[in-house]
Amino acid sequence: IPSRLPDVGTSIFSVMSKMALEHGAINLSQGFPDFAIDETIVHLVHRYMLEGHNQYAPMPGAPALRQIIARVIRETYGHTVDAETEITVTPGATEAIFAAIAAFVGPGDEVILFDPAYDSYDPAIRLNGGVPVHLPLQYPTFAIDWDMVRARITPRTRMIMINTPHNPCGVTLGESDLRTLEVLAEQHNLLVLSDEVYERLIFDGQQHHSVLRYPMLAARSLAVFSFGKTFHATGWKVGYIVAPAALMQEVRKAHQFIVFSVNTPVQLALAEYMQVPDRYLSLAAFYQQKRDFFLEHLRGSSFEPVACKGSYFQLLSYKNISRQADTAMAEELTKKFKVAAIPVSVFYQDRTDNHLLRFCFAKKEETLAKACEILRKI
Ligand code: PMP
Ligand code: GLN
Repeated sequence: IPSRLPDVGTSIFSVMSKMALEHGAINLSQGFPDFAIDETIVHLVHRYMLEGHNQYAPMPGAPALRQIIARVIRETYGHTVDAETEITVTPGATEAIFAAIAAFVGPGDEVILFDPAYDSYDPAIRLNGGVPVHLPLQYPTFAIDWDMVRARITPRTRMIMINTPHNPCGVTLGESDLRTLEVLAEQHNLLVLSDEVYERLIFDGQQHHSVLRYPMLAARSLAVFSFGKTFHATGWKVGYIVAPAALMQEVRKAHQFIVFSVNTPVQLALAEYMQVPDRYLSLAAFYQQKRDFFLEHLRGSSFEPVACKGSYFQLLSYKNISRQADTAMAEELTKKFKVAAIPVSVFYQDRTDNHLLRFCFAKKEETLAKACEILRKI
């Protein structure tokens, strides 16, 4: 039986985390926090379970959770969404992305995405028969070249995918990017799939430019978010997607047959937990401090940082250390020096190798300090 994805192996995140474990390396590869989550929310989940909230949630998500999400979106982005028809809770952003693509991308439909791209985008497009059109972000700024985008739009272009703050580059899109996208999407009748899982992890006083801030853009966008990032619980796999009702109706047709619904007690706990704004507003300062701690402790190292404006990833260039391929460098770093990172070339369709490694700084200070002590000596 022919494979639908003959070129796809195991995700780099599994590969590097396994290697880190086997070689006793400090794992700064796969993106997840190594510190405890707030006990308050753990107790809430426990309480909801004990109270008997253990059966299927409604297909689009627990109403209480959708209501608080709608309120936070209104307060954060000045955008009014109907909790009933325009928000769907999903098992992480991954399924939200897949369901959005399954709903709108069919055989031969082209989807524009930017490399380096998060690893689930391309296979999700292809599994649904779509044609991924990979365009490189400009090097070394990792900005979008909008002229290139304009030149690559065809009558088959159905969707354009953006990601801000960006994984793995840590760059953010600004108002002019969103305005340009708004015009292009309108002119060519495109849908926009906007991956905003790092919306709260944004640094140096910037504001996050969500598609939801731009009414004309929001009218043709599917925006994806993840509680895994915001509340340090990647293992809970809960996120959500926001889209106008007519689009959401189609997304739900796919979602209901991919997973149907998301676990009930965690949704109810999240709904209660989110009532206190500081719990999500404090994220930017929290992670900015971690970024700065990591960079400070790297001072004097031969690794060169690329500016990180958001997300919990720091790119480091190793050009001054070695000219070997980034996959080989990541392997050597993990096995010999005991610090695991992600080679960035795996996020490029053509495996462009700029000698960059991605380090996750969502870690305890002691973990970061230990890793930096090693990195400074290389
Ligand atoms: N998009 C991006 C850019 C991500 O970094 C991640 C998580 N690493 C996801 C989507 C998936 O999020 P989730 O774990 O909520 O499925
Ligand atoms: N999003 C996380 C990262 O970029 C990993 C997610 C996963 O392991 N699938 O590291």
